[in-house]
Amino acid sequence: MAGISEQLRAIYRLLAGHFGPQHWWPGETPFEVMVGAILIQNTNWNNVEKAIANLRDVDLLSLERLSALDSGLLAEYIRPAGYHNLKAARLHNLCSRVLEVSQGDLDHFLGQPLEELRLQLLGVKGIGPETADAILLYAARYPVFVVDTYTHRILSRHQLIDEECGYHQLQELFTDHLEADLHLFGEYHALLVQTGKHYCRKSRPDCSHCPLDGF
Ligand code: SF4
Repeated sequence: MAGISEQLRAIYRLLAGHFGPQHWWPGETPFEVMVGAILIQNTNWNNVEKAIANLRDVDLLSLERLSALDSGLLAEYIRPAGYHNLKAARLHNLCSRVLEVSQGDLDHFLGQPLEELRLQLLGVKGIGPETADAILLYAARYPVFVVDTYTHRILSRHQLIDEECGYHQLQELFTDHLEADLHLFGEYHALLVQTGKHYCRKSRPDCSHCPLDGF
């Protein structure tokens, strides 16, 4: 049987061959990526896109303007993403951290050394490992592997991990067996999301059409 490294590479090849290049994250600027990383918590991309479009329509995709906005109003703009009051508070918490640490200079904030930036992000109320890692990878451009529910589901259904495998253990499976490559990690996460969305659903997975059928 192939080693884990070969298996992870084979999964990537199958998914990339099926779905093609993903060019993730779907955000135009680092700030938009950060906003999206919070809005995507517990929802799907269609809802996030509607919330982002609302913010774009009123020119609020900037740190200065978003942080100055009343929380109630912000919550209304992002209502399509769900948990709108909670997410408005989280967005404001994140903006406050950037203002506090880097006086609002986002390039400076994202340019901090990896572990320092990770700690800064994890210190923001409402930001956990998945959100922090998404920001580290797609906004700060550090080769960090982002793990989510889809990653766990797909790998456990293929008996590559145990059901109880936690976030960091699963993350290490990828980082210990693949080269730390920004493009590879960015695309791999995106491909797993596509697989989860289209085929590997929580109930009734559509294995017969999935590129990983028989893997
Ligand atoms: S849908 Fe089936 S074949 Fe595809 S990843 Fe899930 S379990 Fe595997």
